[in-house]
Amino acid sequence: MIAYLDNAATTQVWPEVAQAAYDAMTQGYFNPSSRYPDAGKAAKALEAHRAAVARALGCSPKEIVLTSCGTESDNWAIRSAVEKNRRRGKHIITTAIEHHAVLNPIEELEKQGYEVTRLQPNSAGVIELSDLEQALRPDTVLVSMMLVNNELGSVMPVKEAAALIKRAGAPALLHCDAVQGFMKVPCCPKQLGVDLMSISGHKIHAPKGIGALYIRSGLKLPPMIVGGGQEGGLRSGTEPTAQIAALAKACELGLARQAQDIAHMRELKQYTLDRIAAEVPQVHPVLVGDAPHVLALTMSGYKSEVLVRVLGDSGICVSAGSACHRGKPSHVYAALGLSKADREGAFRVSFCGDTTREEVDALIDALKNAAQTLFPTMS
Ligand code: PLP
Repeated sequence: MIAYLDNAATTQVWPEVAQAAYDAMTQGYFNPSSRYPDAGKAAKALEAHRAAVARALGCSPKEIVLTSCGTESDNWAIRSAVEKNRRRGKHIITTAIEHHAVLNPIEELEKQGYEVTRLQPNSAGVIELSDLEQALRPDTVLVSMMLVNNELGSVMPVKEAAALIKRAGAPALLHCDAVQGFMKVPCCPKQLGVDLMSISGHKIHAPKGIGALYIRSGLKLPPMIVGGGQEGGLRSGTEPTAQIAALAKACELGLARQAQDIAHMRELKQYTLDRIAAEVPQVHPVLVGDAPHVLALTMSGYKSEVLVRVLGDSGICVSAGSACHRGKPSHVYAALGLSKADREGAFRVSFCGDTTREEVDALIDALKNAAQTLFPTMS
């Protein structure tokens, strides 16, 4: 049996989602820009799919640009926001616990002369609004704050940050990397008050290779890719209609089962915590964030890469910190100020609406076995 507990890394594509992609490839394969009737149908389908994504975000379809992934959305949002505001200043605020899809483009801008303030999290893995308030300046042109941290499951006060930026009168555009928050916590860009929001398909049971950027209506950004003028001229290139159909289907299905899935993930998270507390004394939570799907744990004093491999040998899939940066020490755990032992032993368990208790039971059994073999003196 495989216990797939790495849903923050990626999710299994739902069969109906794969079917939607298959139908788009085999029946609706026409180029939406072509001029005959079947192509017109493909163009209509594309707009219906955009509308389904917009519905899941509670925004207008005109505010959605389809991209290839969360990383592309993040890179574009950041670069274009500072370009848009280039005459207003050269100060950027972000957090020390962003994904590298945000950290790295900001680091590039820093090399080009931008000044960057990186807000540190508190011990709950959350950014303090008072720190943001202090950091905001009249020349702050961008604030980039994630919605849910991918390694900790902590939820950032994005709505309050938006209100603060407005009150402060800073010209900053607010970008939110909602790749881990979409479908897991309230994630409506309008209600949060953000200007730009990134999401990714493969975290919500759509395939890899599709994402979206929400761009607040009225905000005109420089394009990501120029060429044939697709996506309103913002991201040229013949649209990946199959991936878009799949994303739309995942949004549609996800929306219908969202409340139930969130309740299910919360229950499983608590069940995992309870069983670990009762049965695996060598493991404890790094912290318990508010997101329902991510649980950061540590087997303090042991290297999590080894633990992840040992669990993997028993068919249990979890990740050592962020799967995107295998092998490298996590900047998120470092920012939290964890001890070296806790940091090195940290691993992440992450759920989806389809995760079963049996999978968690298999994890607990495997952890107990690993703890016994790895810590003979402690067991
Ligand atoms: N942002 C966060 C918070 C993530 O967790 C990830 C992926 O793990 C990304 C961005 C990158 O998304 P993608 O894999 O779609 O490029």
